[in-house]
Amino acid sequence: MKTMSLRFFNTLGRMVQDFMPVTKGRVGFYGCGPTVYNYAHIGNLRAYVFLDTLDRTFTFLGWQKTHVMNITDIGHLSGDNDDGEDKMVHTARERGQSVLEIARVYTDAFFADSDRLNILRPDVVCKATEHVPEMIDLIRRLEDRGHTYRSGGNLYYDVGTFPDYGKLAGLNLDDLKAGARIDVDANKRNPADFALWFTKSKFENQALVWDSPWGTGYPGWHIECSAMSMKYLGEHFDIHTGGIDHIPVHHTNEIAQSEGATGKKWVNYWLHNEFLVIPKDRDSGKDGAGKMSKSAGNFLTLQALIDSGYDPLDYRFFLLGAHYRSQIAFSWDAMDSARNARRALVQRLSRLITQMPGSSERADRCAPFLTDFREALENDLAMPRALSVLQAALRDRDLSPGEKLSLASRMDDVLGLDLLRSARAEAEKKHSPAEVSVGAGGGVESAPGNAQIDVLVAERNAAKKAKNYARADEIRVILREQGIVLEDTPSGTLWHRE
Ligand code: AMP
Ligand code: ZN
Repeated sequence: MKTMSLRFFNTLGRMVQDFMPVTKGRVGFYGCGPTVYNYAHIGNLRAYVFLDTLDRTFTFLGWQKTHVMNITDIGHLSGDNDDGEDKMVHTARERGQSVLEIARVYTDAFFADSDRLNILRPDVVCKATEHVPEMIDLIRRLEDRGHTYRSGGNLYYDVGTFPDYGKLAGLNLDDLKAGARIDVDANKRNPADFALWFTKSKFENQALVWDSPWGTGYPGWHIECSAMSMKYLGEHFDIHTGGIDHIPVHHTNEIAQSEGATGKKWVNYWLHNEFLVIPKDRDSGKDGAGKMSKSAGNFLTLQALIDSGYDPLDYRFFLLGAHYRSQIAFSWDAMDSARNARRALVQRLSRLITQMPGSSERADRCAPFLTDFREALENDLAMPRALSVLQAALRDRDLSPGEKLSLASRMDDVLGLDLLRSARAEAEKKHSPAEVSVGAGGGVESAPGNAQIDVLVAERNAAKKAKNYARADEIRVILREQGIVLEDTPSGTLWHRE
């Protein structure tokens, strides 16, 4: 039997590599979180759906994981360089609100979008504004090791002191100097140098300032990710993610800071998602080009998709149809196809629910599908392939409805498409309330029919296999409340009415 291992395409080195964790059986990963000065656009949300599939994959494969994500609530300069305008301050001024109010509104909006896309909450969510002391400590270490200089009232990182600068992007300092399109900041020795701490910038009257050894001011953008990731994951950890736009500047600078401060390797694997590119203009029919971005003002929010009649999970389905390292062109036609395909999947499952599935489940019949599914995930998160394994299982002639539902439930722990819940809701719509009484929220409103009990039993079996004991217990309680008693026996779970 072939045994494949978990492997990822590592931007650092640009090749597919076997995943070797720092600590056996455990994985720590950090994803750059949102800048909360505006709504996330659906391109940004691609980055978080990708990160969510990574998180869910580790759980599915039985790893202990720690997933850390930051919230950038201290500005984030408009351009790639330190000369742009602070976005948070800009929005706050425009709206007549405080910077912290703006940050709160858009942080809540971000998590509302995440919930609608079924994105699980990371294990640690950390805000930049709550970690300034850690950033100051890290900057001090950089200063002690000779990586900094003061100029024009600010403190800069001197990239010339870090010989590996640019290794992630495959650029060396000379390339970077030659390619610098930055209008040169007279304060900098090298155009690629970047601010660690600002006391003076073009933007006077900063709303949020802190005392520091370099004067009252605020941190540069990049330092927050180095400081917070190391606080929660240690000085050497497994995986860092983000969109490909972060490779040449933000992540390059994060490496320079972290490895400059510790003198050792920081992150082993760098995973980057490709862009969602711009949609056709629905009215003019013109093709757009290029990356969807907030600063270019050409972005679509998840709410705009909902307002156009899509379910947020149609968008998740659309994203899962492409590998995270392929660019995806957003189009309304593609959204229509995704919606149709997701609905067809839900319909198929809802028919299975009403086909009175037997509560028995033969592991040997399910195993090959689960193996194929696992192998797709292990192969650098090949989600389109994983989706097609699910489709194949549902078309299979030998599997019983119960087995199909159980497989769908198990696979959906990774796909996150809420398939069984949607299918139950669909089945409920089609049948009389007395016959089908399992609520869309997983609850049972009145005497449940046999088929619905079987589905819940199959879902509980899948939850137990996935070690999701909370869900398994929840299902037992839901059924108990309706007078259904479960009995786990060596030959499977039996149930009877009280
Ligand atoms: P930001 O809030 O601008 O820091 O971006 C949040 C995340 O979205 C980062 O990981 C970006 O790299 C990613 N991102 C930004 N634009 C796109 C896009 N058009 N497609 C996919 N990911 C993107
Ligand atoms: Zn970051």
